[in-house]
Amino acid sequence: MAEHDTRIWPPTEDTLPLGLGPAEWAASPTEDSATQRQPGLLLVDDDPFMLGMQSRMLRSMGYSKIGTAGSAEAALALVLAGRAAVDVVVCDLNMPDVDGIEFLRRLGDSGFAGNVILLSGEGPRIIHAVQKLLAGRRLRILGALEKPAGRAALRALLDRWHPLAPAQATDEARVPACTADELHAARQGEQWVLHYQPKVDLQTGALTGTEALLRWNHPEHGLVYPDRFIGLAEDCGAIDALTGWVLGAALAQLSRWHQQGLLIQMAVNVSMENLRAPCFARKVGALVRHSCLSPQDLTLEVTESRVMALAPEPLETLVRLRMQRFGLSIDDFGTGHSSLAQLRDVPFTELKIDRGFVHGARQNPLIRPMLEGSIGMAQRLGLQTVAEGVETEDDWALLRELGCDIAQGFFIGQPMPGEQLHAWLTDWQARRPRESAT
Ligand SMILES: [Mg+2]
Repeated sequence: MAEHDTRIWPPTEDTLPLGLGPAEWAASPTEDSATQRQPGLLLVDDDPFMLGMQSRMLRSMGYSKIGTAGSAEAALALVLAGRAAVDVVVCDLNMPDVDGIEFLRRLGDSGFAGNVILLSGEGPRIIHAVQKLLAGRRLRILGALEKPAGRAALRALLDRWHPLAPAQATDEARVPACTADELHAARQGEQWVLHYQPKVDLQTGALTGTEALLRWNHPEHGLVYPDRFIGLAEDCGAIDALTGWVLGAALAQLSRWHQQGLLIQMAVNVSMENLRAPCFARKVGALVRHSCLSPQDLTLEVTESRVMALAPEPLETLVRLRMQRFGLSIDDFGTGHSSLAQLRDVPFTELKIDRGFVHGARQNPLIRPMLEGSIGMAQRLGLQTVAEGVETEDDWALLRELGCDIAQGFFIGQPMPGEQLHAWLTDWQARRPRESAT
């Protein structure tokens, strides 16, 4: 086969004769439409017995686009040559010479933007650490399994594969970092928009409030998310004006909802930089009064994006906000700098558990104890608990069992423009889990 051959699937028998190349491919001779929708699988393992066993098992499960490679080098050569459409790499972590970690790093560096399933006999902590190592790369980790992987577990992970997923990830990655000039232009051009994500009571299913989430409606890149520009706004001194705009817009929306009879709360994210300004607590109090709302209607979610000891100024602002009866939430608890020390020193009213400790916790022996521990600790401290990243009904059910108060996540509703909240609420009331009767 010529190097520039762009044929993707299946390789014909004469180009990759079984048993002769560094990697072996076996495809069904004719492809029906069901086969075309299947992912092309590449099994990578140094143990020929394991390769044969996995390959037979996958074929018996109905997968027919299966290739095998007995070493990382063979697998890389095959993927980089582009001689077959590899959608999912099923990779053993423990291989001699080039191990699974190095293999996947090189695979990611090569521009391969497919999916990966990790197999290892190393136990859940190592597997979890490797998943984290790979998370920042273009590779999409479908999941990890302990060896030998069973049929049902493998099937569940392969069902997560979707042909369009890598392309979407690539588009996201293509949005460049923003510049201070663009940030200034955005302010002039009124390119900021707020989306609102519902927060729901886990016992009753009732809507309790929304979190206002800032988006930048960029003229070229479409909606840009805050992780792309908040750090920059902090660095160039634009964060106070930005947060001021968010507070004003969010309170105006809340005021409209209250006038319509929707008596819910609003949560707004503030950074530690905002809290350094000595007039911040007074300004927020004035804004709330101007909107004919009360401080109890507003919760400020405090995040810290950089290493900074809790200085006197932010602490003073937080205490003054609390004395006015605003809600104070420690956001993304368990990650970054949202630490036990902050929880001890600041009069928070709410603990918001990061999504990384929520989604999939029932099956995950590492994060479940951390979720249980966080909820238990918050309860004993008298704090309301909010779980982010509730993506499935199973996440919802576990949080109910554990006594968490409020849920937020895609299972309930995505962030949406304010005018869509009523339609979402009608839909949610029809589909919310049945055990949460009001
Ligand atoms: Mg938040």
